[in-house]
Amino acid sequence: MNWNDWILGNEVTIRLGFFFGIFAIMATWEMLSPCRPLSVSKGARWASNLGLVVLNSLVLRLLFPAAAVGIAALAQQQGWGLLNYYAVPFGLSAVISVVTMDLVIYLQHVMVHAVPVLWRLHRVHHADLDYDVTTGARFHTLEIILSMLIKFATILLLGPPVVAVVIFEVLLNATAMFNHSNIQLPAGLDRVLRWFLVTPDMHRVHHSVEDDETNSNFGFSLTWWDRLFGTYRDQPRAGHQGMTIGIHNYRDPKQVNRLPGMLALPFIGRISGYTINRRQWSSHDER
Ligand SMILES: [Zn+2]
Ligand SMILES: [Zn+2]
Repeated sequence: MNWNDWILGNEVTIRLGFFFGIFAIMATWEMLSPCRPLSVSKGARWASNLGLVVLNSLVLRLLFPAAAVGIAALAQQQGWGLLNYYAVPFGLSAVISVVTMDLVIYLQHVMVHAVPVLWRLHRVHHADLDYDVTTGARFHTLEIILSMLIKFATILLLGPPVVAVVIFEVLLNATAMFNHSNIQLPAGLDRVLRWFLVTPDMHRVHHSVEDDETNSNFGFSLTWWDRLFGTYRDQPRAGHQGMTIGIHNYRDPKQVNRLPGMLALPFIGRISGYTINRRQWSSHDER
């Protein structure tokens, strides 16, 4: 049995192992030394957030039994995708794959903030009234399906090694749990890590109710894209203790922190969240 077959056969176990391991570490860490006090009952919030994770996992398994690794194996067999076509050496192609897939996630994240209908879906991630390890995994089922289709398209065009797809998925899952944790790293460590890795303080800015703060720090793993494309913001104006987490006007815990309300969230309210046509230009801005 070769390496690819082993990964394909054990993909679910590998991913679940990392998920539970890192979840346990971050959950313990934020319990022992929380950055902010929680405002909603943790038990009910966790049941809803994790309930959504279970629902999403089941739907993905039913809709896409082959998963991303299956698509990568197919592309490899058929010689589809840039990296398969040009027979790039394994190590280089693995690095290119992980970095490129992270860039695609960044661009996708900017897109779901900019396009009103997609923002409706992504609102579910942002409407959480608290910010902790479970926030990192709560996405509306339709956004998860959209995400998976974009990932399939990326894999078919890129032709990444199967191992790189597993590394990417484990890494994305691990960094999402890490940077949504209700913890605060020592300032010096936070600064150094931020040169390449998104830290809890950096991503917390993105969960602010303030529009300009929400529309910054879109990266999930690498911080380079925000720095390169100009969406980086260092700290929230009100500070990490003073800032408000969530979305203006969506503050009812029944709606935003209970599973039925969360699933209904994309279908309520007026469309008003188009970031680009709301931008105000002042005279000293560059055009
Ligand atoms: Zn977002
Ligand atoms: Zn987030």
